[in-house]
Amino acid sequence: MRRVVEGAAVVTVDSRRTEYPVGHVVLDGNRIVAVGPGRAPDELREGAEVLDAAGCLVTPGLVNTHHHLYQWVTRGLAVDATLFEWLTTLYPVWAGIDEDAVHVAASGALAWLARTGCTTTTDHHYVFPSEGGDVFGAEIAAAQQVGLRFHPCRGSMDLGRSQGGLPPDDVVERLDDVLTGTDEAITRWHDPAPGSMVRVAVAPCSPFSVTGELMRAAAELARARGVRLHTHLAETLDEVDFCRERFGGTPLEYVEQLGWTGDDVWFAHAVHLDDKAVRRLGETRTGVAHCPSSNARLGAGTARARDLRDAGAPVGLGVDGAASNEAASLVEEVRHALLFARAAGGPQALTVRGALEMATIGGAQVLGRADEIGSLEPGKLADLVVWRLDTLAHHDIADPVAALVLGSAPPVELVLVDGEVVVRQGRVTTVDEHSLAVRAADVHRSLVRKAG
Ligand code: ZN
Repeated sequence: MRRVVEGAAVVTVDSRRTEYPVGHVVLDGNRIVAVGPGRAPDELREGAEVLDAAGCLVTPGLVNTHHHLYQWVTRGLAVDATLFEWLTTLYPVWAGIDEDAVHVAASGALAWLARTGCTTTTDHHYVFPSEGGDVFGAEIAAAQQVGLRFHPCRGSMDLGRSQGGLPPDDVVERLDDVLTGTDEAITRWHDPAPGSMVRVAVAPCSPFSVTGELMRAAAELARARGVRLHTHLAETLDEVDFCRERFGGTPLEYVEQLGWTGDDVWFAHAVHLDDKAVRRLGETRTGVAHCPSSNARLGAGTARARDLRDAGAPVGLGVDGAASNEAASLVEEVRHALLFARAAGGPQALTVRGALEMATIGGAQVLGRADEIGSLEPGKLADLVVWRLDTLAHHDIADPVAALVLGSAPPVELVLVDGEVVVRQGRVTTVDEHSLAVRAADVHRSLVRKAG
């Protein structure tokens, strides 16, 4: 099927950062076949569904590089806590999840991501209760139903409280079970083919919930299987202290000796980095998922996104789990990335277009998919967003990119993923939002009740 979107401002985020004040994008099946100024050429319009997008802005679909979908059903708890306090409050609630709870949570979180302009998302799932069933399969099923391109990360924790870690012993797994479960998840779900809708990554949770043995074995497994590596790193000063006391170095020094740098690795947060660490991430092309709202919600600080980009590290944006970012809106992260960068680093710290780049091509680089997504160019996958800029909120904002980044989150006219409609006129077309909201609230109540 061929689709034409025309009459809108088009911001391609291609290597030349081409923008058309009025332009067109033509899609055939799951690929972009033409992008240019003005109306689409007549020969491409024949037999196509044409969307007159006057008053709108077309951008590449946004790429979310860090999330915990299951947390959608545990929002609004420990709302004034630090990371470590928040985690210790929530671990017992999370211990109650099962595949049904994860399916509801993931469906809600993914539908909301789509509503906020996201077309590709990761997930980092690290809670596998022994009686919970197939929680990883449940979130992949949810992504297939909602229709987003999905990079689920098979997470893990094996450093329980009795061993000096933070999580209670009943939410951690045995190292052998982690490696077997992760290997099976790759075999079952990972699709390395071009245009893939599901790619699995290996993702032990964090230095304070995972043993060094697991970190090292996970890196070996990922490289043997040709998949990417993801973990949390340098999120808070508490973590920096933990690493100094327990391992005698910075978080990056600790994980680098376990094999955790390179262009197949990306870290969530990377807030507390010294100059040496910033340089090292750049030299090794190690990626960062910058999560400005979550870091602010937990009072952790804000990542040195400008320095990391200048050093050559790929930087994408992430909403992080909805339990530490109740809004869980990807377009809001673009705005927060810009505002927090300037609040911390002055007016030159990040440009409006630099913020949009992180959410698009930057995220694609972090996930190793810059050849397929993250910009609007012929041959790339048909993942795009049509934002409405002709309502009261934005109509008189001179620059459409400034309207998107500095204005309030615009209504979404259309979201296409792999050429398929996922959002039309502000509504998710693939799942029922209202019934999902009701079911999510039910699951939330039952998890809190179970945790006592
Ligand atoms: Zn996280």
